[in-house]
Order: sequence, then C-alpha cells, then structure tokens
Amino acid sequence: MTGGTDTIDLRVEGVEKSFGAVRAVRDCNLTVRRGEMVALLGPSGCGKTTLLNIIAGFESCDSGDLWLRGESLRDIPPNHRNIGMVFQNYALFPHLTTAGNIGYGLGIRRMPAGEIRARVAEVVDLLKLNGLEGRYPSELSGGQQQRVAIARALAVRPVMLLLDEALSALDKNLREQMQVELSILLRQLGITTIIVTHDQREAFTIADRIAVMSDGEILQIGPPEAIYSDPKSSFVLEFVGSANTLRGVTAAAGSGLAVKADCGLTLPVTDDRLLQRGKRVNIYVRAEDIELSSEPTSVHRDNPGTVSLARFMGATKRQAIDLGGEQVVLDGPSSGASARFDVGDRVYIDIAPERCYVLPAEPPA
Ligand code: ATP
Repeated sequence: MTGGTDTIDLRVEGVEKSFGAVRAVRDCNLTVRRGEMVALLGPSGCGKTTLLNIIAGFESCDSGDLWLRGESLRDIPPNHRNIGMVFQNYALFPHLTTAGNIGYGLGIRRMPAGEIRARVAEVVDLLKLNGLEGRYPSELSGGQQQRVAIARALAVRPVMLLLDEALSALDKNLREQMQVELSILLRQLGITTIIVTHDQREAFTIADRIAVMSDGEILQIGPPEAIYSDPKSSFVLEFVGSANTLRGVTAAAGSGLAVKADCGLTLPVTDDRLLQRGKRVNIYVRAEDIELSSEPTSVHRDNPGTVSLARFMGATKRQAIDLGGEQVVLDGPSSGASARFDVGDRVYIDIAPERCYVLPAEPPA
C-alpha cells in the first residue's frame, strides 16, 4: 500500500525500534493531516526523540514503514526528505552569521544567490530577526538563536517541520511567550508540524492533537480536551494534569457501585465497566476538581478533614487537606469559595461525580 491520501501528510505504521534490549519505540501508528500540529508528549526516555529521528531519517526503524505525502520514506536519506528539524540545542553553525545559517540549506540546494537573499529576507521578517542578519550565534541570545534555528528550518519550505524540545533551553517566561508566538506563526504558515515535549502546557499551547507516549508506546492520541477529560489509562491521567491518587474498595450502591475510599470519602462510580464489587481500586481526582465546604457533602459526610497547607500561587490557591493522615491536594481559583479556608480549618471535600476516575488497583488476571 502507499499509505497516503490527499489530506494526510505523514503516515507511520507499525514502527518499531530497539537499541539492544531497550525497545525504544513499540508498534507506533500515527497519521498527521496537512497543516496539523501534533505533540509527542511523555516523560524522559519514553521514545519521543527516537520516533522523531526515525521520521527525520536520522535513525532507521527495525520494522514498520512511514510515508510522507504517500511516498515511502524508508529508503530516502534525511537530506532528501523535505522535512525541517529544530533541535533543543539549536545546532547552529558557529562560523556562519544569522543570514548564513538561514541560507545554508538553500545553498546546498544550489539556489541562485539572488533568490537565496530574497528567501532569507522573507524568513528574517517572519521570525523578527531584522537587524541581526550579520551576527554570529555567539552574539545572539538563546531566544534569538532559537528563532534562527526555526528560520533555517523554514527557509527550505519543508513539507513538514519537526521540533525536538526546541523551546526547552529558554527560561520560563521566554518559553511561554515563544510557545504562543510559534503556535500563531505555524498556524499562519499552515505547516504540518510534530513537536516533541515533556511539558504539558507547551503541548496544549501548540498542538491540535496530542500523542501521549510511555515506554515506547503511544498510549492515547487526541485533541487536548479529550486527553484531559477522557484519559484512557492511569498513566495518561496522572501525566496530564496533577492528580490525587486515593485507594479504596468498591461496594454496592443502589443498582450500581460506589467506592469507599480509605480516607473516608464515598465516591460514586459513573463508569463501572472495568469494576467488580469488593475489589481494590485507585481513585484519581484532579487537584482542580476538588472543592471545600464547611458543611458535609454527598461524598464526605463524616469526620471532616483539616487544612494542612494553604498557599497563594497567583491565579490559583494550593491547599492540602489532611484526611486521617492522607493528604488530598487541591488547586482552586484563588478568588473561589474554597480559597477562604486556611490552615487548621475543619472542612469537607466535594467532587463532581464525573470528575472521579476509578480504575482497578491491579489489572485483571
Ligand atoms: P528525553 O525526553 O529524555 O530526550 P525521549 O522520550 O526522547 O527522552 P529517547 O531519547 O527516544 O526518549 O530514548 C528512548 C529510549 O531509548 C531510552 O531508554 C534511551 O536510553 C534509549 N536510547 C535512545 N537512543 C539510544 C542509542 N543511540 N543507543 C542506545 N539506547 C538509546
């Protein structure tokens, strides 16, 4: 099969890669539509860079295949793939100026000098590098070097752009500013992009769809909203957003099930497909989904907890509630009703039923 259709730029099928005993990428399948931005999100060592390097052609795969606009990439060397790549350390040529770096790939392609000058001027404008054309990388700030690296990748007008932790070296404020700028710029250009990041906020700011990776596998892929509100595994749930993990046991409640958490909460189960009565379970509740009350609530009727931490974080307030020795952490709006409770206050916890994720503590045998 050719693997391509009009609207799909990249198709990855069954790609595997091992380094000795380490299975860095396992049976990866991915399609990226034209103009789409996909983030590979996962912790260090989960295989993101290896998968990106296979797409770029810097690594071969052991099995599987990939197609760019319908053409198999398997035997195409990296410099003929028409894919632009930006690395974490920018990898600029130190002996070339900004203009020299940006025009480098065009020179290799034997583009006439006049056209190179015009193309360089175009991307210099696009990346707001005006006035820096004659500087060497050592004379540029980290943010400026990063723009040069993106400009260099875009100058050859690639079919696809790959960004490997491209913003990680920038300090927090500059990184967040660049995430927004890059997201707007790439959308304006309509360029198909894959970004590799371990930073959830970066993935959410830039990507249309997010592929969460763990241990070489893509566990779940979907729009940010779906990854956040409909996680299919405890890994995705814990990795995206900050979750409290409570332990408990399932019990009958009316015609369905409820969960008695060891810390004293009684939580409804809205999806009991995976659960049986009397089984140990983990209950995952996001810090931003918990509210506090001075009165008993439907999930917390007896034995109020005690506020053990209350810290102003800016837009949010972080509180920890001691429930018989177990700490439940919440991050609510600092102007919200729960924020009024301070260290030592006695409180009850409230959680909307649909915001509790209950999974078996041990997978079925
Ligand atoms: P990070 O965010 O830390 O860069 P990553 O998710 O990009 O991590 P990879 O760099 O793809 O992960 O590595 C995946 C696994 O493959 C790791 O266990 C890593 O140690 C291993 N690995 C990667 N490259 C090589 C190599 N050239 N030789 C041996 N093992 C490798």
